[in-house]
Amino acid sequence: MISVEQALERVLEAVVPAVSERVCLDQAHGRVLAEDVVAGLDLPPWDNSAMDGFAVVASDTTSVPARLAVAGVLMAGDTPQNSVQPGSCVRIMTGAPMPEGANAVVMFENTDRGLEEVVIHKSVEPGRNVRNQGNDVSRGAVVMNRGRTLGAAEIGLLAALGLPHVEVARRPRIAVLSTGDEVVPVGTPLGPGQIHSSNTHALMALIEEAGAVGVNCGNVPDDPALLREALARCVQEDLVVTTGGVSAGDHDFVKDAFEAHNAELSFWKVRVKPGKPLAFGHIGGKPAFGLPGNPVSCMVGFLQFVRPVIRSILGDSSPYLPVIQARLSAPLSKKPGRALFARVALRLEEGEVRAVPVSNDSSGALMSMVGADGFALLGEGCTELSEGDSVEVQVFRWGWQNRVSGGLPWS
Ligand code: AMP
Ligand code: MG
Repeated sequence: MISVEQALERVLEAVVPAVSERVCLDQAHGRVLAEDVVAGLDLPPWDNSAMDGFAVVASDTTSVPARLAVAGVLMAGDTPQNSVQPGSCVRIMTGAPMPEGANAVVMFENTDRGLEEVVIHKSVEPGRNVRNQGNDVSRGAVVMNRGRTLGAAEIGLLAALGLPHVEVARRPRIAVLSTGDEVVPVGTPLGPGQIHSSNTHALMALIEEAGAVGVNCGNVPDDPALLREALARCVQEDLVVTTGGVSAGDHDFVKDAFEAHNAELSFWKVRVKPGKPLAFGHIGGKPAFGLPGNPVSCMVGFLQFVRPVIRSILGDSSPYLPVIQARLSAPLSKKPGRALFARVALRLEEGEVRAVPVSNDSSGALMSMVGADGFALLGEGCTELSEGDSVEVQVFRWGWQNRVSGGLPWS
């Protein structure tokens, strides 16, 4: 049996970086940049007004009230025709280019809004309410590096820079194969002894969250020959994930089926709870993970080992789940020898993050995952943590920060 760290090292060795593809911006959300982005433009591209008001020569407003002639009007989209002379100004709207000669804008609220002549009530210093060319981004600057995940702000920036397309990592396709005589697809009424394949759909969702494409390959019964055949079909995809049939039971044939395709398994068991049985090897040159059938073990195995592989294939510069420090709100104990990923709900209390262990820690209890936001990490040697102890928590769900008060922080 190997440690979590060793298992992670082995699976990451299997990573082959994805090729890249060009996508349009509306398809870029959540994708991982495959190129450094260099600004081809200054942002803003030219000096412009940050306010609706009057573009002035700042020194004309040193003593107020000041009376200035209004020499023209500039709307956003206009091109300035004349420069502003001392003693005069231009009525200007937000986003309109600054006319030459003017070096500040007095907002409407500090004037009488006069049409031909305006009275300025408040003085401005040079630069006030002006957004200077290149103030946000200078042309030639590297604004984002490859490996960055594209969210709304990143996509907005690409658009502002005039880039309609972006080079991103191609999403790997992941075959999802469930196994088990008792497992039937959701939508089929349950016969005696049967269960729905919840893992298939939990995995499809986890795969999408990880930035890959899931391919549902259905379920195969616990039959070595059928299992081998199904695996042979799965290797059309970039990576294979199976669930169930991987432990030491009489009907657990996944390990044998992996071995039948593959001279040697890289590993079969990891010193981790939940999710000890976890096979990893290559089938037809493709990395293949045999995850356990218990729903919690299956999700833990995915999040600990498959997800970092997917994120690394995508070139993500930080392929691991984020870890935060929290304070335990109840004791946790375990036997030495295996690392524990203890499901915890997170709460913000008096400015501190509390980790609340779930009440039912059975590896079959899906409600414990529904109620959890992360895993408290207990190393192999750790046997006991007390209430109030500080723990590291791997976070797989955000939004719990809002549960305390909801709404805006100051309301
Ligand atoms: P196994 O890993 O095959 O020994 O299965 C362990 C437990 O997980 C058993 O109770 C199975 O019925 C259950 N299980 C196996 N496959 C699935 C699946 N696809 N969805 C939900 N539960 C499953
Ligand atoms: Mg089984």
